[in-house]
Amino acid sequence: MVSSIIIENVPMLLMGLVLPFYIAAKMESENYTLLSFPTNWRPRLDLYVSVVYIAWLLCQWMLYLVNVGEVIQGPVLKQGKRLNYRLNGFFSMVVNIIGFLIATLCGFKVAVIFEKITELVTIACLVQFLISFILLFTQKTENLPEYSINPVANRGNILEDWLVGKSISPRIGFLDLKFVFARTGMSALALLNFSVLAKYYEDNKTTNYTLLLAIAMVLVYTADNLYNESNIVYIREMSRDGCGITLLVYLIGIPLEYGLVVSYVGTTKFELPWYCLLCIAVFFLLGYWTYRSSNNEKSQFRANPNDPRFKDYETITTASKTNLLVSGWWGISRHPNYLGDIIMHVAMSFAAGFTNVLPHLNAFLIVSMLLQRERLDFEECKNKYGDDWERYCKRVKWGVIPYIF
Ligand code: NDP
Repeated sequence: MVSSIIIENVPMLLMGLVLPFYIAAKMESENYTLLSFPTNWRPRLDLYVSVVYIAWLLCQWMLYLVNVGEVIQGPVLKQGKRLNYRLNGFFSMVVNIIGFLIATLCGFKVAVIFEKITELVTIACLVQFLISFILLFTQKTENLPEYSINPVANRGNILEDWLVGKSISPRIGFLDLKFVFARTGMSALALLNFSVLAKYYEDNKTTNYTLLLAIAMVLVYTADNLYNESNIVYIREMSRDGCGITLLVYLIGIPLEYGLVVSYVGTTKFELPWYCLLCIAVFFLLGYWTYRSSNNEKSQFRANPNDPRFKDYETITTASKTNLLVSGWWGISRHPNYLGDIIMHVAMSFAAGFTNVLPHLNAFLIVSMLLQRERLDFEECKNKYGDDWERYCKRVKWGVIPYIF
């Protein structure tokens, strides 16, 4: 039977699978015109690339097991269960970058990551399929702990189970698949960017400041996410969504889509004057400040609402005894952190100028996703907090962008 779960998720899956191949083909052809369809747009398997990719992927999983970084407890799940997560994503990214630098110094042609992008997307795609099928056929609903059962699957529909996953937190021992996949996508993004830079220098032997700024912005975003990995543990994808193929496609979606501006600037040798770069950098830093400070403010408040720094803040005490912040960042809009995220992505896309639409695709997708996410969170908070949420919304009228949304 074709359920609403299938109808909602099949288009997302197709986008998650088709878009990376399309972007890879565009990167290869160096033609970023949105509607000129590349002739090389098809999967391509290469044995050497596949072996190296799988070895690299296994290394990422091993790095998670290295006893570096704090182990924290995640959010409270059903039955009061809290899972442990090791926060060593930043360490893992640094190891990846050091490995990349050593490979460069040893004469390894690191630009190959960019040159073999379709082959990498193909093997990453196969790995995602393999993992999704292993999860589908090895997990039995009756054996899953209650806190891990995905409530929107496990209804005897195999297509639903494959798309959205039977389990919310599939683990091999301590290794949490979703958590490791998220950081692997981020590390892959950093390596792809460095590879574009290596290829640029190999081909042009000059400095492109637009490319350097574009890479710096992506790296700040990636490094910040991994440095503050404790926040990732709490996002809905980690604590509420199942681990099906539609979530696993993030593994290639993150590097390809987030890396689009850098690839565009690197391959087309696009350059902006210094004053534009300065404005973009300032705009990006404004977004970063909004994003980081608002996220920190909420997590510090949630961790200890009695912290003296909040003594002058106005709050609303809800019937469930949870407090909602009404002053500070959370008095500006109901999601100041989304606002910061949006500003950062828009700033990143500005580095590609306005001659082509395609490099702006990622910013467009992120803005749409965050605005849709605001609606989802609004409904959930309304159900959770009832009248108290209405009171909060009367005080803080804007969802994300003050006076606009
Ligand atoms: P939020 O961090 O905004 O969390 C929303 C929750 O915060 C609500 O459900 C509520 O939960 C609590 N809350 C809401 N209002 C208040 C208030 N006034 N005071 C205190 N607590 C409040 O959303 P997400 O988890 O979706 O996102 C986390 C971060 O991750 C964001 O910065 C987002 O930009 C980023 N993100 C980025 C993505 C990307 O691809 N770029 C994808 C996903 C997330 P409760 O009351 O139960 O605590």
